[in-house]
Amino acid sequence: MNARAPGTADSARVRRQTGSLGRRLVLATLGFCLLFTLVTVGVRTWSAWHKSLAAMNAELVLIDQVFQSNLAKAIWEMDSDALQTQLDSVARAAPIGRVELQIIRAGRAPEIIERQRAVQPGDHRAPRLRHPLTYEPYAGARETVGELTLEGHEGVLWERMLAEVTDIVITQVIQSLLLAGLIMWMFNRSVTLHVRRIARHLTALAPENLDQRLRLDRSPRRRDELSLLEEGVNSLQAKLSAYLERQHQDEQALAAHRDRLAELVEERTAELRAANVLLEELSRSDPLTGLSNRRHFDELKDVEFRRAMRLGQPLTVLMCDVDFFKRYNDHYGHAQGDACLRAVADTLRSVFARAGEVVARLGGEEFVVLLPGVEAESAYRSAVHLQKRLAERELPHAASAVSSQVTLSIGLAAFDLQAMDHFDQLLRRADEALYRAKTRGRDCVSD
Ligand code: GH3
Ligand code: MG
Ligand code: MG
Repeated sequence: MNARAPGTADSARVRRQTGSLGRRLVLATLGFCLLFTLVTVGVRTWSAWHKSLAAMNAELVLIDQVFQSNLAKAIWEMDSDALQTQLDSVARAAPIGRVELQIIRAGRAPEIIERQRAVQPGDHRAPRLRHPLTYEPYAGARETVGELTLEGHEGVLWERMLAEVTDIVITQVIQSLLLAGLIMWMFNRSVTLHVRRIARHLTALAPENLDQRLRLDRSPRRRDELSLLEEGVNSLQAKLSAYLERQHQDEQALAAHRDRLAELVEERTAELRAANVLLEELSRSDPLTGLSNRRHFDELKDVEFRRAMRLGQPLTVLMCDVDFFKRYNDHYGHAQGDACLRAVADTLRSVFARAGEVVARLGGEEFVVLLPGVEAESAYRSAVHLQKRLAERELPHAASAVSSQVTLSIGLAAFDLQAMDHFDQLLRRADEALYRAKTRGRDCVSD
């Protein structure tokens, strides 16, 4: 179970690929220190060379001062042993590379005595001191007896220089390394660590943890560019969090509005559906009586006629007309005429209430009844029954010439499969039968 989260693996890979600011800074510092060391070593070496030359020169001067009087005396007194001893002593002194003594005697060629400790190079760099030797045998009588030449030891000079330069190089290198190390340590501690922490914090940032503030692992009293960065990140997080919160609230409000809108649409749709149903019913029903109107009747009649034709079933039509209705209106008024029509319609509805039976108002005081599956005899009985039920209601009709009550004349026609292929033929027959009922004196059923 040591599988690491993909985010951790990614960040480790990114860390491996990312260079280090501290390392770059140290390399730059080391480069600068190297350059600085070279220049410093050059300048200090040049200065040390001149100091060494001056020091060796001072030593030669000192040797010259120590030995010159004894050498001059030995020459004056022509004491060869003392002269050799003195010269050997001079030649043994540490900084001396070569000693040359020129003896000057009147009337004789100069004599040169030389002591050389080491082979001196052609381009001699060590200091050289040439000094005349004088002797004063008595006061006021100074004689030049020779000339002493002292040459510094080249090897000693270079040895001293080497020691000096080694010292300088070691000091400078140690100084540079310490400086680079100190800079790296300081930079790591005060910058790299915190920058890495900021990078880790930003990588782990997600909408759910925006409230986790960035805190650098150092004293909060320290104020510098890193503090500005820390404040900037926290401020950005706060703004982002507020923005997301607002967006969330807006989305919730939008969802609530959407739901409410859907409810409203549903309500309105239901209302519209109900209104449509009502409209449909209204468009098919007669507003005065509530029976089917002519339009609805026309739809149904063809359906029933085709079915009767197809199945060879009986189909009967009753055409009903209120007798002397014009007179009724004239006598009782139009409103009462409407009430009378409603009463006739109620009677029709109550008599023909079985499934499939259709009662419709064709117009004015004329009604039609469609009786599918009903034979003519049965229809005839129903028509008579209708007249009876209407009579029972005792609707007064003072203006009628046939009765004191409202009566109906009814024309009956039955479907004849052999003679008819269209409903209008059946309807015409019912109309003719009604006409016959009228001419027979009204308030009767005719076929
Ligand atoms: P008949 O016995 O021969 O049928 O005579 P009738 O008077 O009933 O027939 P006619 O066709 O002459 O008169 C029908 C009358 O019905 C005329 C009209 O005033 C009346 N009428 C038609 N529609 C309405 C209606 O909706 N309401 C009322 N109150 N009267 C109507
Ligand atoms: Mg009529
Ligand atoms: Mg009538």
